[in-house]
Amino acid sequence: MMNVQTTDIKSDYFSTYSRNNRVVAWTLRFIHNISNATKIKGSLGYEEFKGAEVLVFKSLQSNAFQDERLLAKMQAFKDEDGLLRIRTKFADSYEKEDFKFPIPLPASDVVVKLILEEHVKAMHAGSSILLARLREKFWIIRAKRLVKRVLSECVICKRYKAKHVEVPSLLRCLELLRQRYLK
Ligand SMILES: [Zn+2]
Repeated sequence: MMNVQTTDIKSDYFSTYSRNNRVVAWTLRFIHNISNATKIKGSLGYEEFKGAEVLVFKSLQSNAFQDERLLAKMQAFKDEDGLLRIRTKFADSYEKEDFKFPIPLPASDVVVKLILEEHVKAMHAGSSILLARLREKFWIIRAKRLVKRVLSECVICKRYKAKHVEVPSLLRCLELLRQRYLK
């Protein structure tokens, strides 16, 4: 049976975070179908997407977190999927499991894509809302800097800001016209 090494997943090659995961999911489906008598057919299911995402995360983690001392400091452990998670100070609270034990992710292009997708899903939320949303599930290294980068590069947000800059100047023009002609 074929085996996929997490290091084989070159996630940065595809344009968006979801598209990237979809490509990985189709690849996993293909590998399953050529190595099993029972074939999976039809469109991709939720479990297949999740499986692809776990594989992408594991790939990112295996490349970034190899320092045993750092892992010990983060109180990192592997969950049932083999995914690294961090034990936070909220571990004994009634918070959601993902918040208590978030998934550590390095600052990488894939993570930037993930942040951009979350930013769009959250109706182009600003930095504090976006950071809070991400923190519900992830522990992203240099998250603030990555969020700042995503916000500064978002085309929609840029356009929105530009419009808001234009408004005062438009009002000023109207005021000048009023002063000129309506006296
Ligand atoms: Zn935006």
